[in-house]
Amino acid sequence: AKSRGRDGFQFFNQQIQKDAERNAELHLHLKSAISRKEFALYYQPIVNPNTGKIVKAEVLLRWQYNGQFISPDEFIPIAEESGFIVHIGEWVRTEALTALKQLQRKKLAVPLAINVSTIEFWTDDLQQRFLTYFDNKQAELGQEKLPYHLLTLEITESLMMKQQDSVSQLLIELRRRGMQISVDDFGTGYSSLSYLANFPVDQVKIDKSFIQKISSGTRHEALIEAIVSMSRALDLTIVAEGVETQNELDFIKQQDIEAVQGYFFYKPMSEEAFFELLAKQAQL
Ligand code: C2E
Ligand code: CA
Ligand code: CA
Ligand code: CA
Repeated sequence: AKSRGRDGFQFFNQQIQKDAERNAELHLHLKSAISRKEFALYYQPIVNPNTGKIVKAEVLLRWQYNGQFISPDEFIPIAEESGFIVHIGEWVRTEALTALKQLQRKKLAVPLAINVSTIEFWTDDLQQRFLTYFDNKQAELGQEKLPYHLLTLEITESLMMKQQDSVSQLLIELRRRGMQISVDDFGTGYSSLSYLANFPVDQVKIDKSFIQKISSGTRHEALIEAIVSMSRALDLTIVAEGVETQNELDFIKQQDIEAVQGYFFYKPMSEEAFFELLAKQAQL
């Protein structure tokens, strides 16, 4: 048993070493990912649970590195650590705005939800930069108006916990321009109801970890019901994320949740596939 313990320890050491090397490698290459055109946006439709109609889509970043897709769960934390997330965020918004413009031209536009890292709002300078980005985009467009009403920003609870006046002011300004603010992964952080009541937001997204425990014999249904009634009381709309089964969908419908996202309806897809899907829906 003693020697097995030592082997286990060695294995553990080797794993840490490997992880560190992988981390350093990704870190190094992330910086050139934009110029090498290794990023792409995928789109996951969000639908009305009763009709299946696409009411929105979440924009999800993909990184193709060395012929392999690297999960954002792996590279976003690295991008956040290095601050490079600020450039990535701007790249994502630029691409999403381009896609929206094309969709508007085809009369197929639906609102797009974009993930925003808390790091992008970390300092006053970054908050200012966030607004300036949109001002510059508007200046480029001239007469044509930026489609703010077709943009939802998905923030996380960690931003609410920053409890900084300037963050609230920024969100108020973004909403004044017509954007919606959605709280992603709701229920997984440590924020409380009072944060939600005092924060300028429009929507909560119930995290997929709750949805996936429906009918598991745990008490997650009760948790979801609590989130739903609280959101109603605060006049927030709700998206349920990670719906994979009929059973989960049935429960969501019972709760009168107005929008769902998950593999039961659609997985994230390429821009080409997404545009085709919207065109098909428009013909129905
Ligand atoms: P998220 O914002 O919570 O995005 C939802 C994740 O759940 C996506 O993973 C999506 O593919 C996955 N998902 C959707 N439906 C289902 C389902 O039915 N079952 C299961 N098992 N999973 C489902 P993805 O695309 O791997 O993204 C992971 C995370 O990376 C995102 O979680 C988000 O936090 C981050 N991320 C992705 N794109 C961006 C981006 O452009 N900027 C930033 N800052 N973060 C991003
Ligand atoms: Ca999200
Ligand atoms: Ca989420
Ligand atoms: Ca997440």
